[in-house]
Amino acid sequence: MQKLSPRKSPFSTESTGTCVFVSAGRGPYENTLHVLSNIDLSPSRGKRVLLKPNAGRVALPGDAITTEAQVVAAAVDAFRDAGAHVSIGESPIAGVNVLEAFESCGIAEIARHRNCPLIDMDARPGVDIEVPNGLAVNCLKICSDVLEHDLIISIPVMKMHMHTGVTLAVKNMKGCLWKRSKVKLHMLPPVIGYDEKSINIAISDMAGVLRPDLSIIDGTVGMQGLGPSAGEVKELGVVVAGADPFAADAVACRLMGTDPKMIPHLAISAERGYGVIDLDRITVSPTNWQDWAKVFDKPPENLSISFPNVTIFDESSCSACQSTVLLFLKRHGDKLFDYFPKDVKLNIAIGKGHKNLPIGTLCIGNCTAQHRDRGIFVKGCPPVGSEIMQTISGNPSDDTG
Ligand code: SF4
Repeated sequence: MQKLSPRKSPFSTESTGTCVFVSAGRGPYENTLHVLSNIDLSPSRGKRVLLKPNAGRVALPGDAITTEAQVVAAAVDAFRDAGAHVSIGESPIAGVNVLEAFESCGIAEIARHRNCPLIDMDARPGVDIEVPNGLAVNCLKICSDVLEHDLIISIPVMKMHMHTGVTLAVKNMKGCLWKRSKVKLHMLPPVIGYDEKSINIAISDMAGVLRPDLSIIDGTVGMQGLGPSAGEVKELGVVVAGADPFAADAVACRLMGTDPKMIPHLAISAERGYGVIDLDRITVSPTNWQDWAKVFDKPPENLSISFPNVTIFDESSCSACQSTVLLFLKRHGDKLFDYFPKDVKLNIAIGKGHKNLPIGTLCIGNCTAQHRDRGIFVKGCPPVGSEIMQTISGNPSDDTG
């Protein structure tokens, strides 16, 4: 097992360590160049720089699911101007082909145009790294590309998240974990002494060893409500950048109308000294940055609020199955009740560890296989929406989920 010590960001100086820059109103490409113009990128000269956008799902530009391609384009150009060797890499959620995801969101196109390498970070074996002070995990399997680059730049989209409150620069680094090792973070037992979900503590553990050297947060179009993939688009038109990913996340939280201290993985990490989330200790430029804030709807605590005829039993599922179910309900919710009685609530189960499930439950994903005799079972890890509909209806569908 390898050791990986979090390094001090070379872009963090006395003046920029807890300084965050915001730009709005110029469009995604110029906003990104503008925030980066405030940061001395010269330490990247001659270095191998890995840009890590959020391209973990197959989604279209403007859906607010993946990073806006023009933000990534500007980051490529800025680091190349500084003399860096730039690549773009991602390890997507279970069941997604990352090259298809890059293509769909437009990042493949901007990379081709610039002759910039695109890396499927799952293509080679992962590397086990130690998490010395881990509370929820003491080992993580990360993509080898992360170790082979000198600098990592986290480029997430501003999104609310059903299980972690928000997903921004710190959480985006979960896409550096190799293949299905990401899934393990959703299957952890409770951490003794903590009320927080173990996924949030595990993200903080990850941040103890794996932090970006610079964070560029794409707030061109964010996602409110049922993030990270089934929420509503919220136009903001901003880009945020900073050397401290926690400070950048804290500023992004405030722009989304959320208190960063209420986001468990940020609060736990700040307590451990990994970064600063106290806005009174962060210098934000320009000073009128809060004029650009828009309040994002929080994720509902109970999914039945959004889908009143459905009860979802969720035991330690991962976001791949959650996204599958949420997108499935959004797209096929109306059709569903052609196959189930209208006057009875539909029960859907996802995740591992259910003790008992009501008769007739729709069990989605391999984690629910042991309950297949309770109702209808849809295999897959995760299954796609078309497979769920096909299993329910017995008819083929051309929806790719
Ligand atoms: S079946 Fe679903 S919840 Fe289980 S590991 Fe696969 S994607 Fe995650």
